[in-house]
Amino acid sequence: MSDRIDIAIIGSGPAGVSAALNASIRKKTFKIFGSKEISQKLVKAHKVNNYLGFYGKSGLEIRDEFAKHLESMDIDITEDKINNIYSMGDYFALMGTNNNYEANTVILATGVNFGKPLKGEEEFLGRGVGYCATCDAPLYKDKVVTIIAYNKHEESEANFIAQVASKVYYIPMYKEEVEVDSSIEIIKDTPVEIVGDKLVEKLVLKDREIETDGIFILRDSISPGQLVPGLQLDGNHIDVDRKMSTNLKGCFAAGDIVGTPYQYIKAAGEGNIAALSAVSYLDEQR
Ligand code: FAD
Repeated sequence: MSDRIDIAIIGSGPAGVSAALNASIRKKTFKIFGSKEISQKLVKAHKVNNYLGFYGKSGLEIRDEFAKHLESMDIDITEDKINNIYSMGDYFALMGTNNNYEANTVILATGVNFGKPLKGEEEFLGRGVGYCATCDAPLYKDKVVTIIAYNKHEESEANFIAQVASKVYYIPMYKEEVEVDSSIEIIKDTPVEIVGDKLVEKLVLKDREIETDGIFILRDSISPGQLVPGLQLDGNHIDVDRKMSTNLKGCFAAGDIVGTPYQYIKAAGEGNIAALSAVSYLDEQR
């Protein structure tokens, strides 16, 4: 467990990066969690014409500018996926894939990549369905585990759990070549439904079924309700006010996750407001 920080920023897209710059300028202790690639949604944009000051640039070029900006301010992105955040009253406990953290305030800037849950996913959550294979690995000693992975980065999670499980099935939901340990069986098929009685028993795919004790669904982001229990939602988005405050004291949100329009400049602007609101909140607590 690391020392308690002032602000934990979850997500490294324009909203999270903008929040981090402002947290740094206001001299708060903080961490920004995500990927050093910043955001796939930025990398993949062919041409961006509506971000102030970057007319005609590609998403990749703007990503590089964001990275340079972070570097100039000595801000480092912590490459850890945050799987759960619990409000503990006057602080937050964060469970990451690699480490656990504590923070006085949280800014949720996770974007909206979580997609529709699989049939049976919510029903069997905690009863065989999980979102962090490395965290739950001890529960699956000598058992059969299935990993549904939406990003190549998750291959290390599969390799890790393969050291304890009796069998690992790996279902890649991405296009890149799969490079996992030879003991892992790769299945290229589409998951349809999770089936069981009290606990998970099998995964139904489009073309076959597999018997499994555990299923880890590793998406780029986790739906906000699953990430932070008790968070008030507005449909699939987080309910916030004009200060980007959520219903949980000390918890703020910004970017696509709080609603449309899904735009870089809106996300960056909201990240700025969320950071300044977190700073005011921290100063009031003194
Ligand atoms: P994101 O950019 O989605 O960033 C979220 C980040 O948080 C990701 O890196 C993710 O991996 C990370 N993350 C999520 N959950 C966790 C977790 N639990 N722990 C750690 N990290 C986590 N908008 C425009 O204004 N103009 C355009 O021209 C434009 N073109 C686009 C082109 C494409 C192909 C796409 C897909 C989108 C485009 N958009 C455009 C929309 C724009 O990409 C989004 O509005 C913007 O990226 C939202 O920023 P964000 O910070 O809210 O989230």
